[in-house]
Amino acid sequence: MSGPNTNFDPVEVAALDPEAVDAAVSSALEAIAAAASLDELKALRPAHAGDKSPLALANREIGALPPSAKAEAGKRVGQARGRVNQAFAARQGELEAERDERILTEEAVDVTLPTGRRPLGRRHPIELMSTRIADLFVGMGWEIAEGPEIEAEWFNFDALNFDADHPARQMQDTFYVDPPEGGLVLRTHTSPVQARTLLERGVPVYVAAIGRVFRTDELDATHMPAFHQVEGLAVDEGITMAHLKGTLDRLASELFGDGITTRLRPSYFPFTEPSAEMDLRCFVCRGKDPDCRTCKGTGWIEWGGCGMVNRNVLTACGVDADRYTGFAFGMGIDRALMFRTGVSDMRDMIEGDVRFDAMFGMEI
Ligand SMILES: [Zn+2]
Repeated sequence: MSGPNTNFDPVEVAALDPEAVDAAVSSALEAIAAAASLDELKALRPAHAGDKSPLALANREIGALPPSAKAEAGKRVGQARGRVNQAFAARQGELEAERDERILTEEAVDVTLPTGRRPLGRRHPIELMSTRIADLFVGMGWEIAEGPEIEAEWFNFDALNFDADHPARQMQDTFYVDPPEGGLVLRTHTSPVQARTLLERGVPVYVAAIGRVFRTDELDATHMPAFHQVEGLAVDEGITMAHLKGTLDRLASELFGDGITTRLRPSYFPFTEPSAEMDLRCFVCRGKDPDCRTCKGTGWIEWGGCGMVNRNVLTACGVDADRYTGFAFGMGIDRALMFRTGVSDMRDMIEGDVRFDAMFGMEI
């Protein structure tokens, strides 16, 4: 079987000449090194590593060689193709790395560049807080009541059982509208809405009134001549202080978090009897830190006043005080906002600096 291959013709296999193979490799390596992009590299591949490339053609000629020559030629061509393929792979790796580097540089976002975005407006934090409180009461089936900021002295004081000589009526506490004998004041609390509501709607009634009130306080870090209150009034048969306490606890936990409750301390207001000061469980330390700065270690924060509606108020508003009882409470919204935001100076709330609204004018 074996024997000289009579078909062997050196001319036909010129492609297997060592010099020709080396030239094909050199040409391929040169072209690969010169490829400046992945596209260029891809375009070179058919000519140097494709089916019709010199080395592929040379490989095909091996089959025609006599067995004695096959091994050497096969090794030579195989190594040559290996070198070319390796060069392709290496150059491809380099070009891909260059491309990735370029993309990172060209497509990088400079986060320090000024943006063209116009700042969005925000609702005032006090407005947001008021809405949140109103939503809570509406959710409990209450109604929202409103009253005028310029109020009749009778609604602001007389209907609420203030004596004619009660100190709160004095001009150092209350803004009177000229002329002073005209009987108009800037309301000093939202409680006159109680009297208006009872007269207008009758009983039973469950209303919350949220609004601005005025007192002749100097403007400082903790006082403002105009501030905001929320007033609650519930009058129905069988209303007790237990209902009052439950309502206040609900409001406290809604505004300051689960588990924040209230406590009542005996006090006096003309329009409620019995009356109580309402304290809020310290929402920072929850009564557990004797060094807490928010509550000064007491575990409680004063928040407002409340009590059972004085029967004189019910009578003045035409309600049968033997049949109906009710509770009322009032507290400062600005103060609640201070608690929630940690703002220690009330003046920040009213100076109209948009940075304040931007910081606190959203609900979380
Ligand atoms: Zn505390």
